[in-house]
Amino acid sequence: MGEETIAAIATGAGEGGIGIVRISGADALQVAERIFRPRRGRPLGCRRSHTVTYGWVVTPGGDRIDEALALVMRGPHSYTGEDVVELQCHGGQLAVRRVLEQALQAGARLAEPGEFTRRAFLNGRLDLSQAEAVVDLIRAKTDRAMAAAVAHLGGSLRQAVGRIRERLMEMMAHLEADIDFPELELEVQTREEVAAGCGWCLAEVERLLSGARTGRILREGLRAVLAGRPNVGKSSLLNRLVRENRAIVTPIPGTTRDVIAEWVELGGVPVQLFDTAGLRPTDDPVERIGVARTHEALAQAHLVLVVVDAAAGLGPEDREWISQLPQGAARVGVANKIDLNPAFELSALREALGGAPVVGVSAETGEGLDALEAEVARVAGAFDASEELLVNARQAEAIRRARNHLRDAQATLESGLGDELVAIDLRAAWMALGEVTGETAGEELLDQIFSRFCIGK
Ligand code: GDP
Repeated sequence: MGEETIAAIATGAGEGGIGIVRISGADALQVAERIFRPRRGRPLGCRRSHTVTYGWVVTPGGDRIDEALALVMRGPHSYTGEDVVELQCHGGQLAVRRVLEQALQAGARLAEPGEFTRRAFLNGRLDLSQAEAVVDLIRAKTDRAMAAAVAHLGGSLRQAVGRIRERLMEMMAHLEADIDFPELELEVQTREEVAAGCGWCLAEVERLLSGARTGRILREGLRAVLAGRPNVGKSSLLNRLVRENRAIVTPIPGTTRDVIAEWVELGGVPVQLFDTAGLRPTDDPVERIGVARTHEALAQAHLVLVVVDAAAGLGPEDREWISQLPQGAARVGVANKIDLNPAFELSALREALGGAPVVGVSAETGEGLDALEAEVARVAGAFDASEELLVNARQAEAIRRARNHLRDAQATLESGLGDELVAIDLRAAWMALGEVTGETAGEELLDQIFSRFCIGK
């Protein structure tokens, strides 16, 4: 399948200034030559790599379809590692489609989703973490998510995983020398050294996993719920935050909208902010549904913004509902209407929340909103995330398996069992980590990953 020459529209649907048809494979130049007439000079097949030629895309009968620039990139110095020709034509949907049709008639096959990137991976141009970063980069909704994808694209995850695998390989090589030639009493490495090596690998693996949560939040958004009694100013706060911060236009799909939710960017983090029905005991059936939905939203929240009315003070009812909040989500106390009561005791709220951070704000004047935003960003792990390697759910799962094998290796070492058993655990960890970069990934995993791509990528 690697030998077939493939073609697809590489630019997005809709009208644009230019549209690009990409052709890749051993016959890319021949296919392009059949459908492209340079305005002057030699045919495309004779052009040097990384040059641009002006001309026309034509039918077999010589009729002009569109004016285009042909970009020739010979393998291995191309995106896929194969010969690639990109035809830049006018961006109307009809024009690019007709150019693609010509390429298909001239011998190319329509590319499957992600096939260009899959070929790049198979030809060693990218590892799997970099290929996934391509999708993340295309889908990034904030500057920070984009920066994380760019870091992966540069191979930062590949390097981090590579270092751990190298160390594991060294340890296995020594252990196996010991196993194969015990009579030599090589003692190339003592069991303490192996234990130290395991400890180092485990610490590195933990560091990668700590980036998993943040990575997920940057990709999928932080779910933050505004909770509080009626009239404390939840809706006013939501409106204020949406107005002052860049509202994210494209909602991330797959989320329910039972309660009013708005996407905003706070401190570089995409946040889905839920306004909820006021929390109070009620006999009104409609209000009860609202309260039930509030509890649902609370159960799924990453962060609960506990809003109280500074003017009314912290009453026993507040303490009551705060004590009933589900565990698990982070909490930030928000004393709203601080303009009406600047003397409000923030420490009382902090105490009611078991020491959680608190801020005094006013939805009316805008006071304190920066501090609130900073707290949200902190919760999202955004402060030091630039130092972290963000890993996605698939990568985290493989890394977690590696962690378990390393823990097994440690237990085997401690129990004084044979080197063979330690070597088996280390090898399993080495294999699991190889799935992150794709060195040990099977066809099925590759299918699953590349099917997330769009056609033309
Ligand atoms: P919700 O029921 O918790 O959503 O509360 P609302 O957002 O509807 O606000 C209730 C009332 O409090 C409205 O009259 C708002 O104008 C007022 N309010 C909200 N925030 C502030 C604030 O920071 N300062 C002052 N002075 N009034 C506020």
